[in-house]
Amino acid sequence: MSAAKGSLFSWPRRDAPAEEVLRWGLAEFGDKIAISTSFQATGMVILDMAACATAGNVKVFSLDTGRLHSETYELIEQVRRRYGIQIELLHPDGGELGRMTSLYGPNLFYDDVSKRRLCCEIRKVRPLNRKLATLDAWVVGLRRSQGSLRESTDTVSLDHDHSGIVKVSPLAHWSDDEVWDYVKRNDVPMHKLYDQGYPSIGCAPCTRPTGPGESPRAGRWWWEDSADKECGIHISPDGSVRSSLDVLLEEVLPAAPRAR
Ligand code: SF4
Repeated sequence: MSAAKGSLFSWPRRDAPAEEVLRWGLAEFGDKIAISTSFQATGMVILDMAACATAGNVKVFSLDTGRLHSETYELIEQVRRRYGIQIELLHPDGGELGRMTSLYGPNLFYDDVSKRRLCCEIRKVRPLNRKLATLDAWVVGLRRSQGSLRESTDTVSLDHDHSGIVKVSPLAHWSDDEVWDYVKRNDVPMHKLYDQGYPSIGCAPCTRPTGPGESPRAGRWWWEDSADKECGIHISPDGSVRSSLDVLLEEVLPAAPRAR
């Protein structure tokens, strides 16, 4: 067992209290763990708990895609003032971003699923991968009640998508009500767009409010057919088959290997 994975036998149990899980992670990994947040409700609960546990001495990062809502930047300022913590904003690589928008325009995500995924890859996935390559563990706001894809979320797991570093999800077993109860009891600063009907808040061009009865995910990339959300395939003249995303990436990253 690598020291970077922490002591396996000291991992908190699956239903351990959120504060206990968070304190364990921060103590176990020291300066090699950081909290990832997009300033939604679960992320704000974790920030509040971490700020209380560490007197603000905690590493926090967030993906600044360059297309966030202005309300998100306002909340970042509010968080900095309230908790006295520094927030590292991760930006896309300027060269990659420039080539992508020169080739396909700033609003390429509306063209097709492959270009939307390309935009997410350049603005989110690659900056995140670069950051996680420097860490042994990260803290995220995933919860089992957030849908079928997340129902097996463990409080602590190995993140095989990111070189097997440890992923800590202190709120894995929390319900929506528990999140909002914590927010009210502790007067946690909250994103203004929740009051305007946004159930999930990401980049401004790609999120919208939802109506009664709509799934929270309906507010993301709503112009895409749900049957068409997967990236397409590309058949080259030589007959080889690759994903359309890989083809687009090769055009944007002509000289650089993919950091995945
Ligand atoms: S959510 Fe939209 S704007 Fe943000 S990175 Fe993905 S495609 Fe681009």
